[in-house]
Amino acid sequence: MKIKNKSFKVLIDEHTLQDKIASLAHKINKDYKDKRPLFIGILNGSFMFVADIMKTVNIESEISFIKLASYTEMSSSGNVRELIGLSENLFNRHVVVLEDIIDSGLTISSVLEELKERGAASVEIATMLLKPEALKVDLAIKYVGFEITNEFVVGFGLDYDGIGRNTRAIYQLKH
Ligand code: 5GP
Ligand code: MG
Repeated sequence: MKIKNKSFKVLIDEHTLQDKIASLAHKINKDYKDKRPLFIGILNGSFMFVADIMKTVNIESEISFIKLASYTEMSSSGNVRELIGLSENLFNRHVVVLEDIIDSGLTISSVLEELKERGAASVEIATMLLKPEALKVDLAIKYVGFEITNEFVVGFGLDYDGIGRNTRAIYQLKH
């Protein structure tokens, strides 16, 4: 697959991806039975993962989405993010954050902090992809789809410069 000037090859095919997503959802069904979890998807990248995981989640639950905005001006750190669009009351809720990929982990840890500050009873992470070699923070990630090497990936929600989100497989940059 080519996007702009870059070539990508299949890393995870549709079938493998769908099997894994279903198995994550089965675990969640077991772990969160009778807890009425609130799933929070992080846009834009997680939209396909969220849609597919929720097709197998069959327990009583709610789903909502947030977007992260970087503070463009006066940011001392590139990872200070503001949560946009979260109107739910989190007090005493069991929250499961649904993320496309965790790289350094800085994004997701700032999200976790914010969600805990809002009084959630528990906050866990389900990520489709994890790059363990890139991880810079100590994170307990409850649900991981695939651990991958530290290479750039696109597809199934993930973009390269805005393009390439609309595929059924996940692709890796070819050198
Ligand atoms: P972190 O804060 O964990 O370093 O960054 C996570 C975010 O960076 C992800 O939500 C995603 O938007 C972006 N990201 C990290 N690695 C990749 C990658 O290989 N491909 C794409 N498309 N985005 C990535
Ligand atoms: Mg993301």
